[in-house]
Amino acid sequence: MFSKVLIANRGEIALRILRACKELGIQTVAVHSTADANAMHVRLADESVCIGPPPARDSYLNIPQIMAACEITGADAVHPGYGFLSENARFAQILNEHKITFIGPSAHHIEIMGDKITAKKTAVELGIPVVPGSDGEIKTEAEAKALATKIGYPVLIKATAGGGGRGMKVAHTELDIGIALSTARSEAKAAFGNDSVYIEKYLGKPRHIEVQVMGDGQGNAVHLGTRDCSLQRRHQKVWEEASAPTVPPEKREEIGEICAAAMRKLKYSGAGTIEFLYENGEFYFIEMNTRLQVEHPVTERITGIDIVYEQIRVASGEKLSLKQKDIQFYGHAIEVRINAEDPQTFTPSPGKISFYHPAGGVGVRVDSAVYQGYSIPPYYDSLIGKLIVYGRTRHECLQRLSRSIDEFVVDGVKTTLPLFQRLIREPDIIAGNYDIHWLENYLGKK
Ligand code: ADP
Repeated sequence: MFSKVLIANRGEIALRILRACKELGIQTVAVHSTADANAMHVRLADESVCIGPPPARDSYLNIPQIMAACEITGADAVHPGYGFLSENARFAQILNEHKITFIGPSAHHIEIMGDKITAKKTAVELGIPVVPGSDGEIKTEAEAKALATKIGYPVLIKATAGGGGRGMKVAHTELDIGIALSTARSEAKAAFGNDSVYIEKYLGKPRHIEVQVMGDGQGNAVHLGTRDCSLQRRHQKVWEEASAPTVPPEKREEIGEICAAAMRKLKYSGAGTIEFLYENGEFYFIEMNTRLQVEHPVTERITGIDIVYEQIRVASGEKLSLKQKDIQFYGHAIEVRINAEDPQTFTPSPGKISFYHPAGGVGVRVDSAVYQGYSIPPYYDSLIGKLIVYGRTRHECLQRLSRSIDEFVVDGVKTTLPLFQRLIREPDIIAGNYDIHWLENYLGKK
């Protein structure tokens, strides 16, 4: 087992990782920018190193500074959390070269899943169902038209280097192909410096369903069930549930086993999430995230498994302790992301938290790194905390969520809590009747 883990992240996830390390008896090193000198992850870590000024590119994304922090403190492993360097194959490689363990998959697995076309090809080879579309890059308009006719309209032109939903254009008929192709290309060129695109069938009202997987790099892998993260705004998840409420249990089991088998074949190591669009009872692979996700606690709640603990264990070379037959799914869990944002306009609302009272009681977990008197810096994402609620049934979970939201107080900054207060009363939400467009339509109508 490691003796000292450096946590290359900030905020609630840095604290989440720190807690797992403490429980395992591992020393912790926090790194931080000058803006985060008073952050909770810095206060609670055994050691801390300032790695640069506030902008992430100069601190949390600054590989030489993080390597220097490892050197100074003698850390033998690095946990990257999510975002920042968590899916940076080069960072994983550099750590390897310095005999420091990257707590995550191999650089090779990060790389093949980071490129959309390679990821899709790999998914096909591994027996994971994908969205019908081109096998690779589309070069000409004629090629796009021929393929679109074959798969049927509407189709989606997507950037190979895509991210955050950019460089994506729908074509409803053959007449739209030319313009969709050229706008997707120019958007992709501007955003990613790479104008290559591919084509997929456009799904009209899908849900976003994902499968949590865990492997040990030695050919053992399991799935930890599904999550529904369809409630999104601008491709940012807002509310997540486990298990996926409208997918029948046998379908969840089936897709889970497909994903676990794929990870066994790949000899995947660590935690990962395989994301799908789900429509008319069919799953379509969209991407794989080779890291811990923001919404991992809902899965932890329904399985009783500490995902970060397992990540650390397998990274240290141990075999997966989990067996599929022992993994049970209990009840239902929902997570809502409390952001420091105006609940109407979603503009960030950094500043000082003058009063803070998180919800508590039976079935409630709050993952947050803020405290009363803490100032939310303007440089990073606006996540204040995650409220995770459990119930034996989805109904009980919703009731508990409702009272937890009412109990939660964050004063001094605007938060998304009032949005959740409204959502929890919406008949479609109560019924679990929503797709990936529901929230934006709802907000548009208000
Ligand atoms: P990115 O990496 O840019 O986020 P993804 O492939 O993950 O790209 O897709 C982002 C979002 O775009 C999905 O969550 C979904 O909302 C939408 N999307 C992607 N592919 C399709 C498709 N074939 N049909 C309908 N919507 C899609």
